Amino acid sequence: MIPLALKGGLQTPCDSCNGKCCKHYAITLSAHDLARLSKTLNMHPREFTRAIEAEKINTKVFPAVINGKYMQLFLAKKENGYCTFFSEETQKCRIHAHRPLACRAYPFTREKFVVKNRKNSICPAKWRAKHVERGKVLHDLVRLEEELKMHDAAVMRVNIRTGGKADLGRFLEELVSSV
Ligand code: SF4
Ligand code: SF4
Repeated sequence: MIPLALKGGLQTPCDSCNGKCCKHYAITLSAHDLARLSKTLNMHPREFTRAIEAEKINTKVFPAVINGKYMQLFLAKKENGYCTFFSEETQKCRIHAHRPLACRAYPFTREKFVVKNRKNSICPAKWRAKHVERGKVLHDLVRLEEELKMHDAAVMRVNIRTGGKADLGRFLEELVSSV
């Protein structure tokens, strides 16, 4: 997902990777990601969001009820499997400065205040200390956890407000306006 907090202008493993993570993963979108992206890119959130039936995908995020079905919200993908914001021409993220927090934090996790490489990651790179500003990555990881908690609460509120009857576009509008 072409992270992260890189040390000033250094070449990183992402520079020689063809965005494996941008193709492999379904990227969870939190309510805050949706609000930030739609505002910054001046796009309706429906234009870059796909909804997948909750029972078909494994995630701990609280599900939205859209058209009466439990759904999870992810970044849209192209037919070739790449994220809608990935450029095949440059092999880079087109919205790098504004990418979702899950992209910023990848491929790292934390144990308390220690940043570690994620286990079972598909990232082929060997990340070295010179590539990573650990303090910023830790900040992104903590913020991601906090925003996912707020996302769960916001989804519950919108589910109740819409009675499970909203279509995707209306649900996203309600969700964005609730954060
Ligand atoms: S798979 Fe790893 S090296 Fe490749 S773009 Fe993603 S984070 Fe960067
Ligand atoms: S938003 Fe950018 S970094 Fe994140 S998956 Fe899409 S192309 Fe990759």
